[in-house]
Amino acid sequence: MEDREKNKKVVMVIAAHPDDSEFGCGGTIAKWAKEGQQVICIVCTNGDKGTSDESLTSEELARIREHEQKKASKVLGVSKVIFLGYPDGGLEDTAEFRGKLVWLLRKYRPDIVITHDPKLRYMGHRDHRITGTVAMDAIFPYSRDPLFYPEHKAEGLIPHKVRQVYFMGSEDPDLFIDISETFDIKIKAIGCHLSQVGSHRQDWEQWVDQMAQRSAAVGKSHGLRFAEAFRIIEPRR
Ligand SMILES: [Zn+2]
Repeated sequence: MEDREKNKKVVMVIAAHPDDSEFGCGGTIAKWAKEGQQVICIVCTNGDKGTSDESLTSEELARIREHEQKKASKVLGVSKVIFLGYPDGGLEDTAEFRGKLVWLLRKYRPDIVITHDPKLRYMGHRDHRITGTVAMDAIFPYSRDPLFYPEHKAEGLIPHKVRQVYFMGSEDPDLFIDISETFDIKIKAIGCHLSQVGSHRQDWEQWVDQMAQRSAAVGKSHGLRFAEAFRIIEPRR
């Protein structure tokens, strides 16, 4: 951190599925990437169940979705996208999954992590809930304390403290980020996920209009044309 260029941050997005980062924080990622922050995107599952098309196999879908994610990340200005490759709907809160996230946190040393809110009261995708939970555990205390996953030391990795965690999709947001300038980039990135939004190709403008209305509703009470909302957590240091 000390030798990083002043005010330049490393941001890590830890998302359950391909397309979650575009929908949940695409405008914010694009904004920060434009400002010169380094954004690294971790996609935990391969999204291989996300279709109603019975002619597709899981292997084909996973390949398509990885390709779509790479394109979308490029549109947003993400500098690196890393796929953990767990099966869609198959995430579990295991020491192995947690260890992979701890390794990535110690390797890339993000100042800010964006992930799913693990504490949704009612409807929430199991993979999102587990990703949020495991990411938080990986941040605190596992990546912070050296005696957890001590094998990382042999690879030259040292403990890391994340400064802030932003929960996307939170029911209790307390931070609203202005994405008025990057809303169009967000839509373009979402549009890369054709396997997910391709059914809207016929009524694309109408669908974009709905997305705009939603982003406008988030921004309205804060005087912002379009916004994304987050819950901020500052892990104990
Ligand atoms: Zn998802």
